[in-house]
Amino acid sequence: MHPVFTTTIDFARQADAADELADFKKQFHFPKKNDKDTIYFCGNSLGLQPVNVEAAVQTELNSWKEVAVGGYFGGTNPWLYYNDYLKASLARIAGCKEDEVTVMNTLTVNLHLMLLSFYHPTKERFKIMMEAGAFPSDQYAIETLVRHFGFDPATTIIEIAPKEGEKILHTTDIVAAIEAHGESLAVVMFGGINYYTGQLFDMKRITQAAHEVNAIAGFDLAHVIGNVPLQLHDWAVDFAVWCSYKYLNGGPGAIGGVYVHEYFGNDVRTPRLGGWWGNDEKTRFKMEKGFVPKPNAGGWNISTAQVFNTVCLKASLELFDKAGIEKLRAKSLQLTAYLEYLLHQLPNINFEIITPADSEARGAQLSLYFKERGKEIHDKMIESSIVVDFREPGVIRVAPAPLYCSFEDVYRFYEILKDHF
Ligand SMILES: *Cc1c(COP(=O)(O)O)cnc(C)c1O
Repeated sequence: MHPVFTTTIDFARQADAADELADFKKQFHFPKKNDKDTIYFCGNSLGLQPVNVEAAVQTELNSWKEVAVGGYFGGTNPWLYYNDYLKASLARIAGCKEDEVTVMNTLTVNLHLMLLSFYHPTKERFKIMMEAGAFPSDQYAIETLVRHFGFDPATTIIEIAPKEGEKILHTTDIVAAIEAHGESLAVVMFGGINYYTGQLFDMKRITQAAHEVNAIAGFDLAHVIGNVPLQLHDWAVDFAVWCSYKYLNGGPGAIGGVYVHEYFGNDVRTPRLGGWWGNDEKTRFKMEKGFVPKPNAGGWNISTAQVFNTVCLKASLELFDKAGIEKLRAKSLQLTAYLEYLLHQLPNINFEIITPADSEARGAQLSLYFKERGKEIHDKMIESSIVVDFREPGVIRVAPAPLYCSFEDVYRFYEILKDHF
């Protein structure tokens, strides 16, 4: 890959020709406009549909049609073990052991469930620390959970905001805040990447700081999973949750993911809300009294496997296994750096990249804050068949997902800005 970018379309085409992952683009369905594939930079909101999904869904429809209840033990992929089929792929992406990961429910539900396991407030230790401007659903979850325990969100939730006039948080300031709240801190709960600014937090350092004051470290990985490789186990992260419809391309409302460190997962005494699917398989169907959790993350499963919102993710993960998360990240670093380079060649447009310039502190996404004409620029992109999203007050988020975006796609985005603004 070229270390030095140029502003020519030939450069983009050469980079695509040299890209060993370029062919994965053909494994996805793109929305069309005027009969042509659009350029899709919205994988941070809803990933595209992998071509192999349709057949995978058909397989499960056939099992249901042909063997009905027999599908739990028979059929092509016995449904009884459906969650397990995804563990190996997810463990590679999350950087953990297979027994530390499971799929269930959806993200916000899982955040509630994890906090019920890991947040045990007392008069002395009760605070939850999070980044200011976290995704609204996370804010609502934590606000309502804190009230559920009879605490006051105003004094219980500690939000860490950037310094005056800045957009991003410094790890040193996060660590200092953790130390300052020390003994009163129960849980540190950050988004791994902030959805708005695109800032990737130093999860290893934050976890270490949380542990130094005996607090739990949990992360919402909605914007990280399938985007940036993780080492959840080695970083000793206590728990994490994510949704599967963004970079993982699991489809709208896809099954969510959960990671629980084996230290807690192996210990069946770790508190949780139970259900039969988290019960040990050996005794699950004896229908006896007394919940016996599986000694792993699967011990947090509650209800029967949700086959039809898991099958699309299962199919999509085959692509991640083929491409490899490390290779995807290597391409992603190049694609996003190229986008950043091209944006810097537009001196006439008044905007600011609010995502960190340090590639270690971001994933695929760049958030562009247009001080004027933001909505107009967004509308022009959509009209020109480039799908990006817009957030008030003028932020366009551009996420070139490496599985299905090319250097030429990035060039087209730049070209429209250059030629029309
Ligand atoms: C997308 C996203 C969610 C969505 O939660 P759901 O429960 O799946 O609707 C939550 N948190 C963050 C940080 C997100 O980016």
